[in-house]
Amino acid sequence: MTGWDYHAVIIGGGQSGLATAYYLRKYGVSFVVLDAGERPGGAWPHYWDSLTLFSRAEFSNLPGWPMPAAEGFPPRDHVVDYLTRYEQRYELPVRRGERVERVERVERGEQDAAAGGPAGFRVLPQGITARHVVVATGIWSAPFIPFVPGSFTGTQLHAAQYRRPADFAGQRVAVIGAGNSGAQIAADLALAAREDPALGIEARWYTRGEPAFMPDGIDGSDLFRRNRERFLAIARGGEDPGCADFDGDIVAVPEVRRARDAGLLRAHPMVASLDELERDGGDNGVDTIIWATGFRPALRPVRGLPLSTPNLHVVGFDALGGPGAGTIGGVSPFAREVARRIAGDSCTVSG
Ligand SMILES: Cc1cc2nc3c(=O)[nH]c(=O)nc-3n(C[C@H](O)[C@H](O)[C@H](O)COP(=O)(O)OP(=O)(O)OC[C@H]3O[C@@H](n4cnc5c(N)ncnc54)[C@H](O)[C@@H]3O)c2cc1C
Repeated sequence: MTGWDYHAVIIGGGQSGLATAYYLRKYGVSFVVLDAGERPGGAWPHYWDSLTLFSRAEFSNLPGWPMPAAEGFPPRDHVVDYLTRYEQRYELPVRRGERVERVERVERGEQDAAAGGPAGFRVLPQGITARHVVVATGIWSAPFIPFVPGSFTGTQLHAAQYRRPADFAGQRVAVIGAGNSGAQIAADLALAAREDPALGIEARWYTRGEPAFMPDGIDGSDLFRRNRERFLAIARGGEDPGCADFDGDIVAVPEVRRARDAGLLRAHPMVASLDELERDGGDNGVDTIIWATGFRPALRPVRGLPLSTPNLHVVGFDALGGPGAGTIGGVSPFAREVARRIAGDSCTVSG
């Protein structure tokens, strides 16, 4: 008996938390998953209605049970269904509606004074203690908006809040951002405006540089292959072969291709000041700005703790884990490695 509630707590019950949970279960570790969401699927239920994966189902597998087949690029709800069933299939202990606000260290001896037990953590407000904490909180709850001078009195939202074109009926909308989200949202709005002129949507896409599309034959599966090569090279201690040398960043998923080929996806140079987008500011004036300008790792619960803190682990972030860590098909080796380290730390076995 060590006095810890669990050997490990996983914060976040999306694909990264589930993949880690799968391996912890396999290795016989006692753990719980705390997830702020009210339903399974991590961030996926919150993505916009028209979102599809940028790769086919066979390249989007979590450990153990592959994603069921789907026609073409699987839609958002197919992913939600897969994650829901995955969690049920392995009876993973996910507690929902449990937002972790803070993780604090429990110093040596405090938790297990008699045995002089090693240091671990307490997650708050739950008060649960564990020797290991895995942060699998994703990026969705940490949207990033860059500073742009000037002021704008219309509505502003981040891509994380975008759902469907009908929400913008009768509006002029500026979509800002040259990545996949920007291209997809701009395409979604432009196609809807063309297919249903009564919606009265006028969408304009703004990018800093000229947006660069990957060749049409390239999709997420090519990126996954490249990520896998990179992961294996790095794991062998070899040289990182680097990112794929495709010309662009934007995967030409069918909707983007359709809008682009119809001439509806032309980018305008980013404005120097938000004043230029003011509703009454002239030709460029818009009612709403949608910032499709990316995300940061949602590390709020562990602020103040260096990520190098022993027994603190992160899973699911490309920037912190390695190539592919932030994708469905790429998270497995990172989740397994973290679970192995936790299971290998056998100086405590949870009581
Ligand atoms: C627009 C978009 C499109 C994408 N398309 C693809 C794609 O086609 N293919 C692909 O492989 N990848 C894609 N990705 C990347 C990646 O698969 C997703 O970002 C995925 O949601 C990441 O899973 P995750 O489990 O790491 O994080 P999330 O799905 O965000 O799950 C994190 C979970 O942690 C919970 N949480 C957060 N903070 C706390 C807290 N403090 N306490 C408790 N719980 C907390 C959240 O409620 C959530 O349930 C896409 C990403 C985006 C943004």
